[in-house]
Amino acid sequence: MKRRTFLQTTAGTFGSLLFAKNPLFASMMADPWKITMLRNNVGVFSERGGTIGFLLTKKGNVIVDSQFPDQSKHLLDELKKRSDRAYHLLINTHHHGDHTGGNITFKGLAKKVVGHVNCLANHKRVAETQKSTDKQLFADTTFSDTWTAKCGNERIKAHYFGPAHTNGDAIIHFQHANIAHMGDLVFNRRYAFIDKNAGASISNWITVLDKTINTFNNDTLFVFGHAFDPEKITGSKEDLRAMQNYLSKLLFFVGTEIKAGKPKEEILKAKSIPGVTEWKGDGIERGLQAAIDELNNSK
Ligand SMILES: [Zn+2]
Ligand SMILES: [Zn+2]
Repeated sequence: MKRRTFLQTTAGTFGSLLFAKNPLFASMMADPWKITMLRNNVGVFSERGGTIGFLLTKKGNVIVDSQFPDQSKHLLDELKKRSDRAYHLLINTHHHGDHTGGNITFKGLAKKVVGHVNCLANHKRVAETQKSTDKQLFADTTFSDTWTAKCGNERIKAHYFGPAHTNGDAIIHFQHANIAHMGDLVFNRRYAFIDKNAGASISNWITVLDKTINTFNNDTLFVFGHAFDPEKITGSKEDLRAMQNYLSKLLFFVGTEIKAGKPKEEILKAKSIPGVTEWKGDGIERGLQAAIDELNNSK
């Protein structure tokens, strides 16, 4: 995001000629978003917001999450170059605007829009509060525990393991490709948003990651909603364990501070969490605040 802003600002200042002469900059200017094919015709798209997953088959295409309206249009343009098939399914991992804002682009295109029952409830509630229901495309198909579908040779299974980042996070598994889109259940090496207003639970998030680790195998390739390093939006169980470690250390640290009688304002000033060395980015206080709320409410 920052790099792109820099490029746009710089291009505006110096003109495009300079960039046309520099192949690296020229390619980045022409293609600010990124598409990577992973395996079995499953790929990822990233530009701004939560990573999009997609599956292209002869029978139709499947999209997981949609970023924002402009980004989903860029995605559609890119996919048109690779496939002329219809859009079978649009699946949302959860309701946040950086995952559902682009749903509207698929209005009339996607045969079904799928999400966890709490994802739909949160999506509607937030849109009503923001008076933006006309800009949304809501799920028309919901589930509570699991949901499956077939598209071409691929089988897709959605899993719900309970409240975590919100109370409606689903993991979308492309079974043959063995690729699992984690939505925002993993912020890879980046401080996480923990949405208490949408029923998030840090302690249960740790359990959800345990269930995930037990459900999938060592060949599963995981897709992450966000990563500090934009190159690291996919990974393995090891990254899930690292995420678990961050959440456990966050809860433990805040719990210890509360027990020691530290006022909330002091706890929120922490610049690091003991035992968490790899997590970076802004927003450490969002996690601290969520942990304070969670621990105070459980007393
Ligand atoms: Zn997100
Ligand atoms: Zn989110």
